[in-house]
Amino acid sequence: MAAVILDGKKIADQIRGSLKAEIDALKGRFGQSPTLVSIQVGEDPATAAYLKGQKNVTSLLGIELKIQILQESTSQSELIALIENLNKDNSVTGILLQLPVPKHINAKEVVRFIDPKKDAEGMHPENISQCIFGDVRIGPCTALAVMELINASGIDLYGKEAVVVGHSEIVGKPVSLLLLNKFVTVTTCHIATGQRGVLPEHVKRAEILVVAVGKSGLIKGEWIKEGAVVIDVGINRVGDKIVGDVEFEKAVDVAGYITPVPGGVGPLTVTMLMRNLVEAFKLQKGI
Ligand code: NAD
Repeated sequence: MAAVILDGKKIADQIRGSLKAEIDALKGRFGQSPTLVSIQVGEDPATAAYLKGQKNVTSLLGIELKIQILQESTSQSELIALIENLNKDNSVTGILLQLPVPKHINAKEVVRFIDPKKDAEGMHPENISQCIFGDVRIGPCTALAVMELINASGIDLYGKEAVVVGHSEIVGKPVSLLLLNKFVTVTTCHIATGQRGVLPEHVKRAEILVVAVGKSGLIKGEWIKEGAVVIDVGINRVGDKIVGDVEFEKAVDVAGYITPVPGGVGPLTVTMLMRNLVEAFKLQKGI
């Protein structure tokens, strides 16, 4: 039987509906709109597409978006100085540093200078560490998006077996921690798991499978456990198509629930960015 498709756009629309109502209420109470400042250093075609998505969602929700485009030659200390000014500016709710940045800038170091209460992407170490404690108000957007999609399947997480393929700081590691907080038994796989040749045996055990690698066709359809919830975070360009990391056509016949690529994790990620912003606004207002 074909899996139920976890339609990221539909789920995102529902969350955006309640976010919009919350934003309207906050505007009424405080007479101020949440404001996101998006910083771009230099030009990058991928950033342009990401910004377009941000523009659409912010205008839909009544969030003010200010885009600051800095010259490619901007130094790291100049960028940090800008961030420190935005931290002090009471009209700014959230700050986002668009990636990639030019090679002479260390994004990881720069992100540490964003006030954790204004950290729209939830990537400040103080916010990421909340994934350990399980009390996430502002958190890493893609990891939160994955959790929303798993929840949308309606699966009872308690005691389930999850396999997370990929151990990046933005997806694999925080997702593993968020699942662990829900009493899921989690195995995190990575490049060394693949090199040792034991990836299939781990994946075959997964009642919940999250894949965030960036290699098309890495996860074979025949490895998927019957009825599994499959969340494919991967984005790969193959010819003129965008595909995930899982062999979708085969996996869809075995899985219980599966995300499409595109249209799965992506729409939820930008929605989680907006939810972070609303939480940032509330934290700054002491609520
Ligand atoms: P990353 O490059 O930081 O990490 C890749 C991970 O895959 C690493 O943990 C690595 O050890 C592991 N890996 C590599 N080869 C492997 C193999 N053969 N077997 C097992 N593990 C292997 O990646 P990332 O930033 O987490 O992104 C992963 C993918 O998710 C990319 O395609 C990216 O574009 C996509 N992504 C999508 C969204 C979204 O909103 N939809 C957001 C972030 C990332």
